[in-house]
Amino acid sequence: MKKTCQALFGALLLCAQLAHGENLLKAEALGDGIFALIGPTGGRLHENYGLNANYGVIDTPDGTILIDSGASTAAAKLLESESRKLTGKPVKWVINTGVQDHRWLGNGYFAAQGAQIIALQRTTTTQARLGKGQIESLARELKEQMNGTVPAPAAQPLAGNAQTLTLGGRTLELRYFADAHFAGDAVVWLPKEKILFAGDHIYVDRLLGILPESNAETWLQAFRQAIALQPTRIVPGHGRVCDVAQAQRESGDYLAFVVGGTKKFAEDMAGVDTAVGAMKNAPAFSHLRNFDDLHRGNVNRTYLRLEAAQ
Ligand SMILES: [Zn+2]
Repeated sequence: MKKTCQALFGALLLCAQLAHGENLLKAEALGDGIFALIGPTGGRLHENYGLNANYGVIDTPDGTILIDSGASTAAAKLLESESRKLTGKPVKWVINTGVQDHRWLGNGYFAAQGAQIIALQRTTTTQARLGKGQIESLARELKEQMNGTVPAPAAQPLAGNAQTLTLGGRTLELRYFADAHFAGDAVVWLPKEKILFAGDHIYVDRLLGILPESNAETWLQAFRQAIALQPTRIVPGHGRVCDVAQAQRESGDYLAFVVGGTKKFAEDMAGVDTAVGAMKNAPAFSHLRNFDDLHRGNVNRTYLRLEAAQ
């Protein structure tokens, strides 16, 4: 009896988790079989499967194109079921826009289902360097959800900085501009529809995070090149679908503020505490979610990188 109860409880728990996962990502139709899956803007949590980011789903007669594969095998299965609800078709191609865990750690699951994983060579190089550490650090929060997750960068990565892909009759461009949130981050650009899947180049509604792997100075250059495409709609890496003006206000202007501000202090070797102290108030951005948690660290890391380059 006790065993039966335990099994029942386990099954109920799994159902509750999956039901919760079903409501995690909000689908937004962008027209013509193109969808954004918008995740929560907080941190990586067990309850959100590490899917605190956005994804893309594109329908084609030959199968589904999924943009980014989630932070684990468990997350990949959720993305698979959400994308099937939208297109009714299996995922045939997965395109990676970047290197952060939630962009690509689901690759192994999709590859095992027969999907082709597509990424630029420079993206896979950084993925290969960081993958093992990303899985170890995610396991602390996501626990059993990371079981079976292995780093699986694209087996046949694409050379160069820009590739035009024709998949199921759709034309997409995979473009790299400069090292950004991570070295090797890229965007997916739909030239006909003028829709940009910006990956971790653009955050709105919440503050972006400048990590030890990030290069804020070249990220700003990459941001400028991405919006120079003049997209009519942007699916940012984090936050709601937006236009160029909002991306500029909440990502571009913030990067310019941090890079421009810290540069002056770094040139004078003023010290990181002086830079952080002088820049800790940033009223133009303090309404953005996660500001209190991230802003000082963003200034700190940008200053140290710029000072080291002096
Ligand atoms: Zn991200």
